[in-house]
Amino acid sequence: MLDRHGCPLMPCHPARARKLLAGGRAVVARHTPFAIHVKDRTVGESEVSGVALRIDPGSRGTGIAVNHDVVAGDVDPGESSTTRRGLYAVELCHRGAQIRRSMEQRAAYRRRRRSANRRYRAPRFANRTRPRGWLPPSLRHRVDTTFSHVMRLANLFPVTELHVEKVSFDTHALGLGKESLNGVEYQQGTLAGFEARQYLLEKWGRACAYCGASGLPLQIDHIQPKGRGGSDRISNLTLACAACNQAKAARPVEEFPAEQPTRLARIVNQTKAPLRDAAAVNATRWQLWDELARIGLPAAAWSGGRTKYNRTTQGLAKSHTLDALAVGELDGGTRIVRYPHTVLVTAATGRGCYARTRPDKFGFPRLRLPRRKQHFGFATGDLVRAVVPRGKFAGKYTGRVAVRASGTHRIAVPGGYADVRHKYLRLLQRGDGYGYSTRGETRS
Ligand SMILES: [Zn+2]
Repeated sequence: MLDRHGCPLMPCHPARARKLLAGGRAVVARHTPFAIHVKDRTVGESEVSGVALRIDPGSRGTGIAVNHDVVAGDVDPGESSTTRRGLYAVELCHRGAQIRRSMEQRAAYRRRRRSANRRYRAPRFANRTRPRGWLPPSLRHRVDTTFSHVMRLANLFPVTELHVEKVSFDTHALGLGKESLNGVEYQQGTLAGFEARQYLLEKWGRACAYCGASGLPLQIDHIQPKGRGGSDRISNLTLACAACNQAKAARPVEEFPAEQPTRLARIVNQTKAPLRDAAAVNATRWQLWDELARIGLPAAAWSGGRTKYNRTTQGLAKSHTLDALAVGELDGGTRIVRYPHTVLVTAATGRGCYARTRPDKFGFPRLRLPRRKQHFGFATGDLVRAVVPRGKFAGKYTGRVAVRASGTHRIAVPGGYADVRHKYLRLLQRGDGYGYSTRGETRS
């Protein structure tokens, strides 16, 4: 909901939006995500308590949740007064794999041209430096699209704080930092337990350290048994399958895999080795965090272990958007009481390419594309509504359009397409590089 000057107000229920639109007090500002302009309101006259934006960055998809923490006035003593309500959820689907494929294809064309029937050219790919913070284009895209989505949502919602899942596990809390923590509480079911477990899974490759079995429940095992002076610190913990854990019992690690000296050496090595940087630090997440922190909104970074802990204790199903809603601290027993039942799925589609020719499989130009991108008022990627009165594709459709110079454009509809003359189309929203659809939220 936007005020008369276009500043965001608190979001409202769809029923209220319908009433405002029907009564002429508001007009549609944007189709997807749906936003209305209230013509007789300003932010100053309204109560705007602000919302939080929570982000769970992933490799294929990123979950973004808009939520509102409500503090109730009167509750029984001992009960938490704060409840978290999910207001809006977006699942952003990245196209990193597609970008990677295109880059590889381009590299292959260039490689061929170097060795084709030409004079010798020295390879030039190794003599260039990369700027600080450079990321491969497929990863750069993840950071950029997530950032731009946050900025868009900040234009539609009165966002007052950002919460980002930045790391998989909080190494500081695990006692891996300079100041070591003794007696790590690694019991399952506590926040530290989740963190410790996630760290150990990553460090020991999700497999039993003694027999290498994976895909079965793993237990946390003391490398040097407690009875022989082994500590509870995370550096003394490993993962073992039930059989190995029982077989090892209270024996020291030197005696247990006695018949396998190489395995023992590997365990001892792994214990001493710090976690590989690549596993501990996800470059895209850090870069995203750096950029979000620069916006100027209060931002907080959290760990994946905490998200998982929150989601599990709140009894939520696994999905990107519910994960996003569970990011951050649930202080004082805050409960998540509501989440949107419909999620907006935005797939990064790109905005087409500048190249006006299509190459064949050898890289030679074969197909010449039109110079113009717009045909009969529509461009590929526009969101349109079609009402077709008769013919093979008679019916009503809403979707992304792919234009043709002939004027019979193609609309992507769930499970297929429809070819529609331009005169039956109505523009809902100009293409913005994303394809929109919805899905129901995952139920537990
Ligand atoms: Zn085992």
